[in-house]
Amino acid sequence: GLVTGPDTESDMFTRPPVVTVMGHVDHGKTSLLDAMREADVVSGEAGGITQHIGAYQVKLESGQRITFIDTPGHAAFTAMRARGAEVTDIVVLVVAANDGIMPQTIEAIRHAQAAKVPIVVAINKIDLPEADANRVRTELLQHDVVVEDMGGDVQTVEVSAKKRMNLEKLEEAILLQAEMLDLKANPNRVAEGAVVEAKMERGRGSVATVLVQRGTLRIGDTFVCGKEWGRVRALVNERDERLEEAGPAVPVEVLGFNGTPEAGDDFIVVEDEAKAREVSGYRQRKDRESQFVKSAR
Ligand code: GDP
Repeated sequence: GLVTGPDTESDMFTRPPVVTVMGHVDHGKTSLLDAMREADVVSGEAGGITQHIGAYQVKLESGQRITFIDTPGHAAFTAMRARGAEVTDIVVLVVAANDGIMPQTIEAIRHAQAAKVPIVVAINKIDLPEADANRVRTELLQHDVVVEDMGGDVQTVEVSAKKRMNLEKLEEAILLQAEMLDLKANPNRVAEGAVVEAKMERGRGSVATVLVQRGTLRIGDTFVCGKEWGRVRALVNERDERLEEAGPAVPVEVLGFNGTPEAGDDFIVVEDEAKAREVSGYRQRKDRESQFVKSAR
């Protein structure tokens, strides 16, 4: 049978943090994600990250891991939150040191604050002669982000994604923040998670990148996901490797859906197909009803 029910303290194991990078357009979110992906020691050992699945895990030289949600921009974050998915543990706020706080920086701060997710600030483009990190710190204060230098507890790290400067410092800051959050999950139970990205692919059918949040997902598991259901046919990671299982904070592409879910949908392993059909059928009926109510207004 499936292992369900509440977790006890002894069931809980430390898990990697899940990080979302946010900030104003052109401040260097994509560059920073790319630069940190290169720090992955597994990439050095056996081929790099070869495919975009919306999230990936980096293994550092220390052996510690960080999971990055690889969908820069705020739309994915808000879409997921709107559907009740709280996947992000830490927001890395990227602020270009030559530009300072801009409208989308403020928006990102508001999102993180509303979600009660701690911020680590990456002051980027520190290589530029006109970079002014202190100005950035002062401006942050005006938006209730009180950095360490100003008596607060928000860490700032001056980086250059382009010149690969201080990336380890940023990783250390993320791991320190994670330690303070004391992130734990029980790997020895049925898997639960959330959809980061989903699409229909020719030849593969509906595929979704699922971030496992608790438990361990295995080939053959039957699941409900949003209004859809399925049975895990294959698990594929960002290196295009087939996995037998995926534990907490591991993002993995799941094949075996009967329909395409949406970003932010919940993902829950259930005991059998009958249960899966029952839950997804109920959710589809509810959805149709609410659409009917909306159109009748
Ligand atoms: P995004 O829109 O936030 O994802 O920003 P990008 O990563 O696309 O970067 C926007 C521009 O800034 C690109 O031309 C990058 O080459 C440049 N850029 C990113 N990081 C740095 C940096 O550390 N220093 C400098 N000088 N330029 C950078």
